[in-house]
Amino acid sequence: MAEFSRKGVKEIIFSTLRRAVYLRIMEQIVQQIEQYKQEMQAFEANTPDLVEAFRIKYLGTKGLVKTVMGEMKNVPVDQKKAFGQVLNEFKEFAEARYNVLKEGAGEESDSNAAAKDITLPGDLFPVGTRHPLNLVRNQIISIFRRLGFAVAEGPEIEDDWHNFGAMNLPEDHPARDMQDTFYISQNPDWLLRTHTSSVQARVMETQKPPIRVICPGRVYRNETISARAHCFFHQVEGLYIDENVSFADLKQTLYFFVQEMFGQHVKVRFRPSYFPFTEPSAEMDISCQICGGSGCNICKHTGWVEILGSGMVHPKVLENFGIDSTKYTGFAFGMGVERITQLKYQVNDLRLYSQNDVRFLKQFTGVVG
Ligand SMILES: [Zn+2]
Repeated sequence: MAEFSRKGVKEIIFSTLRRAVYLRIMEQIVQQIEQYKQEMQAFEANTPDLVEAFRIKYLGTKGLVKTVMGEMKNVPVDQKKAFGQVLNEFKEFAEARYNVLKEGAGEESDSNAAAKDITLPGDLFPVGTRHPLNLVRNQIISIFRRLGFAVAEGPEIEDDWHNFGAMNLPEDHPARDMQDTFYISQNPDWLLRTHTSSVQARVMETQKPPIRVICPGRVYRNETISARAHCFFHQVEGLYIDENVSFADLKQTLYFFVQEMFGQHVKVRFRPSYFPFTEPSAEMDISCQICGGSGCNICKHTGWVEILGSGMVHPKVLENFGIDSTKYTGFAFGMGVERITQLKYQVNDLRLYSQNDVRFLKQFTGVVG
């Protein structure tokens, strides 16, 4: 017993006491933890603010989990492992509960919305209508797409070559007078394209036959604005170049088009015509869709209305792009979208298309295209 000094004995007693006291404290902490867990379980948080309040209270830097964890340093060594486990479980519990609340707050707002009367009519969202010219342009594109035509587009400001020269309209060609042109004053070689043939030129420049494209787009001509003429309008032109393309292909393609556009009953006729870029050339008429052929103002009492120009591509145009005109032939056609729209929807004043009059545009509500 000699080794037990008085002081040593005291120390042992105190440390035993401290240990007993601390074990009692630990019991209280464990009880406290259980209570916190129950509180956490009961914690309702249906808004992000409340979820955040939970986080601050339990998991924040001064939160209860941290505070309890701080007790670890006072725990007797032989108890550290068991107590550490309790603390870790507590921490994990708090984190899991926090995640549940966080997810719940998001879902909660949804289920709140769902809890409202879902039979109430929704807020009206005004939907516009497609412009009639776009409707018809889309219909034209969709018909030719089914025949394997691709869509090509090009610039509205063109140079003289792509608009005229390449299309067999040299500078002194009288046919240029047919298309009053807007020139760009900064550069006399530049102009606003008068037809989308310029796009065909650009296609032939970059692609080798077989070529099968349609070129929709806006074109410009210097004309006085009236019910029957405008300084800009829209075209869809088409071009098909391959071996053995004949006028019969042209007729059949265009006949298919008008039947798809206006109905199976439509009749067609071709009249010889002249265009510098096609030879032979023809204008195509269809039986008047307004009067059915018996005669009215639209068809000028002839029963027929002109809808497009067409022809076999002039060999010179092919040669302009290095396409062998002895091997390849092709046909081309061009139509005004306004004209087709007029016949389809009986719009008799070209100016209506660009006046943005809602009373006019609203009439196309519900037309799909
Ligand atoms: Zn008619």
